[in-house]
Amino acid sequence: MNVLKTTYDVVIIGGGLSGLTASIYLAKAGLSVLLAEKSTELGGRALTMKKNGAYLNLGVHAFYQDGKGEEVLRELGVELRGANPPASVAAIWNNNIYSLPTGPIQLLTSRLFSLTGKVGLAKFMYKLGKIDTSKLGRISFREWAEREITDPMIRHVVYAISRTNTFVPHPELHLASTAVRQLQRTFGGKAFYMDRGWSSLVNDLKQRAERAGVTIMTSHSVGEISSSEDGFQLRLANGDSISASYVIIATGPADACKLVKGAAQTSLVHWKEEAHTIKAACLDLVLSRLPQSTSSFVAGFWLDAPIFYNNPTSVATHSEDGDLTVIHMVKLLGKNPSNPKEDERQLEQALDLIQPGWRKEEKARQFLPRITVSNDFCSIDKKGIYPGPEVPEMKGLYVAGDWTGHEGEVLVDTVLASARRAALAIINQHANNKGAG
Ligand SMILES: Cc1cc2nc3c(=O)[nH]c(=O)nc-3n(C[C@H](O)[C@H](O)[C@H](O)COP(=O)(O)OP(=O)(O)OC[C@H]3O[C@@H](n4cnc5c(N)ncnc54)[C@H](O)[C@@H]3O)c2cc1C
Repeated sequence: MNVLKTTYDVVIIGGGLSGLTASIYLAKAGLSVLLAEKSTELGGRALTMKKNGAYLNLGVHAFYQDGKGEEVLRELGVELRGANPPASVAAIWNNNIYSLPTGPIQLLTSRLFSLTGKVGLAKFMYKLGKIDTSKLGRISFREWAEREITDPMIRHVVYAISRTNTFVPHPELHLASTAVRQLQRTFGGKAFYMDRGWSSLVNDLKQRAERAGVTIMTSHSVGEISSSEDGFQLRLANGDSISASYVIIATGPADACKLVKGAAQTSLVHWKEEAHTIKAACLDLVLSRLPQSTSSFVAGFWLDAPIFYNNPTSVATHSEDGDLTVIHMVKLLGKNPSNPKEDERQLEQALDLIQPGWRKEEKARQFLPRITVSNDFCSIDKKGIYPGPEVPEMKGLYVAGDWTGHEGEVLVDTVLASARRAALAIINQHANNKGAG
């Protein structure tokens, strides 16, 4: 049992992947670190729930290798257990299921594309891997796709893959370099499903944080952060008070604004207003078996709706004995209020199409009607200026998380890379302060 001190070098608010990651870098550099998480468990949106003997992530979770996320995990010594799925993907169009061509033979036999479309797709797939995304300039993904892909069906497919692998349904806003880089990773087979879900990563990071000396406090909500010349004063919801020289806010931008006294006079408010939040309805199911094992696509996406299907258990173990099947159905939501009952029914009906008979196999379900998948993404309107890691108006205050990403970063890449940026900036500032003192 940790004994709470009243003074730390750094307090981190939020025990999701970003808070945990930052804490390890800082503690390894010799700083005293307190990580405060308001929930009873660490993990945030990377939590995995156990239901009827199966491990269920909060919605589909694929880790994309060959990016900054993997780089950070390698630096921390984390090895992921799981597997890359085979390229067995369905495209659904007008209630018909088409196998998406991933090789020359499937391409020739595909019913989804015209003959010229097939030639166009072969050329596109060949060209995609060779694109230097750093040279694409500041254009939107839509602008890039309209210029590079003439066949309308190929464009449909490319937009659908992009919203599946980034969760961003706004090609007109998404920065082309970031979206195209993610397409390259997808076509390069870099999606990875973790055995036992993402809590395995959370648990690994937690152990490393504890070994490095981080004090971890769950069920501790931070109520307010105020800054003075001497540093920061944090008030916990239970009335305790803690002081720190540096603070990292590893929550979403709305929470960050609520937490900081005087936030209205800082960039935090501007960052919150500029953020494009992405929400989704997620239906996560535990099935006793896959009813249609002969047509068992690992993933499927609808071309005419922002819906997708995923079966991580095709390659990764998500139950104690490995017998159960986990299916994730996702619908990306717009800004307007949605009807949860209607969304759940739509996801069930979509699954009827791709896995008829699933209802008889259902053992457990988790429905998340409107979860925040991402607090922001790399959008063209940011003009190359991104939030954080420091909050310029309050020396010593830093931010990390999915709303503080840089060009080329998506989803958990952003989370892990921003946590490293915030931690390294503090380590630097601390060394400079000591040098000056
Ligand atoms: C449905 C869904 C699907 C996803 N799929 C993918 C995917 O396929 N690939 C991918 O890379 N990423 C995916 N993600 C995104 C990924 O899960 C998140 O980017 C990541 O988990 C965010 O980590 P974080 O630490 O930045 O934020 P969070 O996980 O949100 O953690 C923030 C933490 O701060 C805590 N907190 C808030 N306020 C306070 C307070 N006042 N005091 C103390 N604690 C506080 C919260 O309780 C929370 O635990 C998905 C997310 C969702 C929801």
